[in-house]
Amino acid sequence: METKANLIGGEWARTSGSRPNINPSNTNEIVGNYAEATAADVKDAAEAARNASASWAGAPLGDRARLLETVANQIDARRAELALLLSREEGKALRDATAEVVRSADIFRFYAGEVYRMSGDRVASVRRGVGVEVFNEPVGVVGLITPWNFPMVIPAWKIAPALAYGNTVLFKPSELVPACGWALAQIIKDAGAPAGVFNLLMGGGDVGKAILDVVDAVSFTGSVATGRAVAQQAVARMIPAQCELGGKNPLIIAADADLSVAVDCAVQGSYIQTGQRCTASSRLVVDRQIVADFTEALVERMKALVVGEGPSPETDIGPVADDRQFSKDLSYIDLAEREGARRLFGGEQLNRATPGYYLSPALFTDSTNAMRINREEVFGPIACIIPVRDYDEALQVANDTEFGLSAGIVTTSLKLAHHFKANIRSGIAMVNLPTAGVDFHVPLSGMKSSSYGQPELGAHAMRFYTKTRTAYTFPG
Ligand code: NDP
Repeated sequence: METKANLIGGEWARTSGSRPNINPSNTNEIVGNYAEATAADVKDAAEAARNASASWAGAPLGDRARLLETVANQIDARRAELALLLSREEGKALRDATAEVVRSADIFRFYAGEVYRMSGDRVASVRRGVGVEVFNEPVGVVGLITPWNFPMVIPAWKIAPALAYGNTVLFKPSELVPACGWALAQIIKDAGAPAGVFNLLMGGGDVGKAILDVVDAVSFTGSVATGRAVAQQAVARMIPAQCELGGKNPLIIAADADLSVAVDCAVQGSYIQTGQRCTASSRLVVDRQIVADFTEALVERMKALVVGEGPSPETDIGPVADDRQFSKDLSYIDLAEREGARRLFGGEQLNRATPGYYLSPALFTDSTNAMRINREEVFGPIACIIPVRDYDEALQVANDTEFGLSAGIVTTSLKLAHHFKANIRSGIAMVNLPTAGVDFHVPLSGMKSSSYGQPELGAHAMRFYTKTRTAYTFPG
């Protein structure tokens, strides 16, 4: 099987090492072999990106916009093929993989428009006769490092603004899911990106570390532990870091909740995409008045969820992404029971026609917020009900966490909804909606350990991908 190479300076680079990409729905199947970048590759890519920097920063806006528009169109044209590839390498259900591909194209299209909105200000001076201009310019060479759970859309939401605002890129996808990153690189190259503007460097954490040594800014998405290391390395070099990290997201079910909305939000937020979303609701904080009815209705709905091969159109929940995450999920299921939580449904390894990491969605009840299962991010299809006395206790429990990415409430009370939005300590607040599932034209950012640096997405992305400067002129 041919090895898919890194893209360095506009060429597919010759490669020494490679790594097989295994399909988690069928571990006998290799999706492809993907190159592992060396330290020399990172150096070459950095040099190519540096050389291309001034020309891309000064390119006519139309050139940048057209590149992004072409990429969007190509992603759309290859939608079915890319969705299948995504599902085969990461395991998510085909319908979710398709939605991810569609969204990736939309993001490139959105930033094709943003190219024209890189505005500045001319402002009055405190001194007579002086003119003051505040303007934004590209940061330079940016490093983009992404996790495995959204192999296409997270790369898209970093690459598109990076290029739109005139930066050149070193991109490292997770070594678990290089196929979508490679396909994006192919599309960007074929769309006419000038040599060196976009470079793909596949491989593991060492490649990420090497990238951090050569770029002018880094945008990272991943776990808190890695994010902390990334931020420390960035601070040591005094370069900006944008880190979007993990969550332990609560969904409050208030006593007055519409039960069917509550169940929908819990199923969507906790289990769809195998719970492998930073915004997944792993803590279901439920008013005791409604807990019995809610639990019964949720279990009924869970029984109908189809766990199966990612690429199958019938599948609701695909396999866990790899053996490491699978073992982690099973160990936390065991831990929850040992801590005294009561397993009501699922949490069992399942056999399907092909060997894979199949796990039935797990629901625990009678858990407390002090248990490790409710304090540590697991990143699997596992949710725990924490029964509470009332809304005040629910809010206190929801906020009692080191994380602050997303949080939701299901309620029919406008008063509670407003109180929740104002008082929940998370970057994203959802009312009568699942904690997972955000728009791309508005900012995404967490609080506490869930985020570090400027928000991603929307027009706000410009704050990270540009450097703001000020010029004074006399007479001006
Ligand atoms: P990791 O933190 O393990 O890895 C993220 C990326 O960083 C990977 O590409 C990884 O390489 C790379 N990396 C590892 N070590 C270093 C290092 N020292 N320096 C630079 N890069 C490094 O996260 P996962 O891939 O396991 O993703 C899951 C995590 O991502 C969860 O915590 C989840 O909550 C979070 N996430 C956050 C989102 C948000 O928007 N807040 C969205 C989606 C996920 P490799 O893995 O190839 O070795």
